[in-house]
Amino acid sequence: MTIQKPNLPLLGFAAYSGTGKTTLLEALLPKLTATGLRIGVLKHAHHDFDVDKPGKDSYRLRKAGASQMLIASRYRHALMTETPDSEAEFDYLLTRFDAEQLDVILVEGCKNIAFPKIELHRDEVGKPWLYPNDNNIIAIAADDKVDSELPQMDINDLDAIRDFILKYVADFSAVKPSEPATACCDTLSPAFLSVSQGQEKILNAVAMVEGKENIAINDSYGRVLSEDVISPVNVPQYTNSAMDGYAIRADDLQRESYKVVAEVMAGYSYDAPLQMGEAVKIMTGAPMPELADTVIMREQANQEGQTVHFNADIKAGQNVRQAGEDLALGAAVFAKGTRIESPEMGMLASLGFGQCPVTRKVKVAIFSTGDEVQNPGAEQVPNTIYDSNRFTLMGLLEKLGCDIIDLGIIEDDEEKMVKAIEKASHQADLVMTSGGVSVGDADYIKLALDRLGEIDFWRINMRPGRPLAFGKINDKPFFGLPGNPVAVMVSFINFVEPAIRKMQGQLDWQPLKVNAIAAESLRSRQGRTEFSRGVYEMNNQGQLVVRTTGKQGSGILRSMSEANCLIEISPAVDTVKEGELVTVIPLQGRV
Ligand code: AMP
Ligand code: MG
Repeated sequence: MTIQKPNLPLLGFAAYSGTGKTTLLEALLPKLTATGLRIGVLKHAHHDFDVDKPGKDSYRLRKAGASQMLIASRYRHALMTETPDSEAEFDYLLTRFDAEQLDVILVEGCKNIAFPKIELHRDEVGKPWLYPNDNNIIAIAADDKVDSELPQMDINDLDAIRDFILKYVADFSAVKPSEPATACCDTLSPAFLSVSQGQEKILNAVAMVEGKENIAINDSYGRVLSEDVISPVNVPQYTNSAMDGYAIRADDLQRESYKVVAEVMAGYSYDAPLQMGEAVKIMTGAPMPELADTVIMREQANQEGQTVHFNADIKAGQNVRQAGEDLALGAAVFAKGTRIESPEMGMLASLGFGQCPVTRKVKVAIFSTGDEVQNPGAEQVPNTIYDSNRFTLMGLLEKLGCDIIDLGIIEDDEEKMVKAIEKASHQADLVMTSGGVSVGDADYIKLALDRLGEIDFWRINMRPGRPLAFGKINDKPFFGLPGNPVAVMVSFINFVEPAIRKMQGQLDWQPLKVNAIAAESLRSRQGRTEFSRGVYEMNNQGQLVVRTTGKQGSGILRSMSEANCLIEISPAVDTVKEGELVTVIPLQGRV
């Protein structure tokens, strides 16, 4: 779900408790409304706050199960929404305001969310300053002057604070007449993209490869179906017994005892129509005799010689699996674009298929760049590092079932690079390099790419993995990944993997994301997506908790090995406190 934030100025008040935030706002609001300003306030309260009173009708209806309760009268209405699983996101809460009726939203609380704030500070409270460590602070209202470039006001001078807010609101409407606040990245610089903007551009630019093949089921693991699979048979194929017991006719339930005329094991059948007064001893999975449609389990039967009687109530039709009950002939089994994994292999086999139609393998050419990069397997030359990126990429591509064209390490030489990339684009469906794409780098790869085609050099608002080159060479997608080993993996996971899956025919693939409780506080920064390497596990209460692998330098490849997930912190969040929920992207099955 994309959330459209209201196109309104947002201003918070950041202070330690005891500073008198609410008292100040209470005195400030009449001064602001006197100027005609229409004000919305968002206040963050403690966990179990309730505006309702026990015993009131609305309270009783909520407790009886209304997850949203809208109570309305002549002068006001209030919508109470229960969020038992997790707290509503800040951006979502903002959408609850009626932006048409407001000029500004003031926020009290929400300390660790990134948006502009005035810091309120009183000496006597004895708390440290926030502004030196919080770049969301845009002004200070205090009883003391500090050494800072930020605008400063006396905390007791309400007129000055009012005037600051009026100017803030006026500046907002002057800069952004009507465009939504979320468009900021594109308007700042066309090369500055959010993670989702980058993903969208890439997915729009790549298409499923042409070419299909029929392969043996034995070789189908990891491939993607190129056609819908329709069941050619009934599953089960024939009506059979769900129990070890006795098969009789439903129009013959009232008898004292029955004559056992045969015993049928799975894999065999009793071919005569069952007569009144007869029973067939039958095993689980064995076909029901003609005209028999009810099975009594063995535990409820007493057989002496060829005679059986039952000591239980019998329901007509019980304990029988009908032909086609699990899957009817002609029913849709798998849609094209389904990736074949173990259950799909088994299922295809269970329908009798020896082969299945899949998209052909996607061919990916990879090479590393940089004169400092050396092939492993030989003694290390001074001033070099061993190439790790190409091998990480081989693993990632192997996992996705690609054909890999390994072009090794290309020297830092413009002419050679142009030749190598050009050749690769004819051999492969996708070309990928690592290194040399950072803004400001004077690497040869950039010069070569500039000569070759329409390549954009992006700066993605994420860490790690900020630089990314993407475009087409001879109509083949090209990815220039960053050089840092962790950044390579994080960029691949976020941008290359979705593109390859689309090229393979998995058109609407979405990565799995889950929520986990942060076991430690996590740093991030306003306006960028932070991917930390994490380890998630279940605690004693059965909840998922996640911690980082420790130091998060983007060169530490071992952190990727220790991690079982990426922790994704969205651009709106500044810091995450221990105990708060964060988004986790599990890596099992992907790396
Ligand atoms: P670059 O983006 O080219 O500035 O590279 C960033 C960092 O990644 C540098 O420290 C490079 O030495 C390193 N690096 C570049 N390519 C590779 C590679 N193939 N394997 C391991 N490290 C690399
Ligand atoms: Mg380099």
